[in-house]
Amino acid sequence: MQNITEIEDLIKLISKLPGLGPKSAKRIVLKLINNRDELIKPMINTLAQVYKNISRCNLCGSLKSNTDGCTNCENIKEKFNKICVVEDLADQWSIENSNIYKGYFHILGGTITSMSHRKEDLLVNSLVERVNKDGIEEVILATSATVEGQTTAYYIQDSLKNTNVKITKLAQGLPVGGEIESLDDGTLFSAFKNRSNLKSNSD
Ligand SMILES: [Zn+2]
Repeated sequence: MQNITEIEDLIKLISKLPGLGPKSAKRIVLKLINNRDELIKPMINTLAQVYKNISRCNLCGSLKSNTDGCTNCENIKEKFNKICVVEDLADQWSIENSNIYKGYFHILGGTITSMSHRKEDLLVNSLVERVNKDGIEEVILATSATVEGQTTAYYIQDSLKNTNVKITKLAQGLPVGGEIESLDDGTLFSAFKNRSNLKSNSD
């Protein structure tokens, strides 16, 4: 198995996925090869469809279907006056599942210090635009309790200084190094409930 180029290449690719090392990548590749028709064939088609039809919304940073538009910021029936800023879509899913918050989301797609991201990729300009255009009254910064997350929160706060919006940040009760995605509902609830005020509307 080791010396077949195609297999080696696939193992290398799969081991780049989160949570997978070379050992689990090998197991996955074996499983795929042993189930060519049930797994590889539909996967090729599905991946091609996702590659073609799914892209990042350049207004809110979520994923959208190129045919249906963005269900995160454009095709929303309800109107909200809050935007919650998160690092990743997985953070949004955690917050949504916990039913703590009702409002819009803005997905940065990383932190300001993560090497793979340039500042403009965080879509901070479009966040400012959304705040001004959609009559937003509060921006909730829900970045991780890591140095990178907090630096990013500060950068966003600074970018919003000329708007008339209230800015809050999730409570310090977040465990240090805590990523939103991995928090239990109780911790998330108290972090939202006790969020601290960084800037009032009247500033
Ligand atoms: Zn969007």
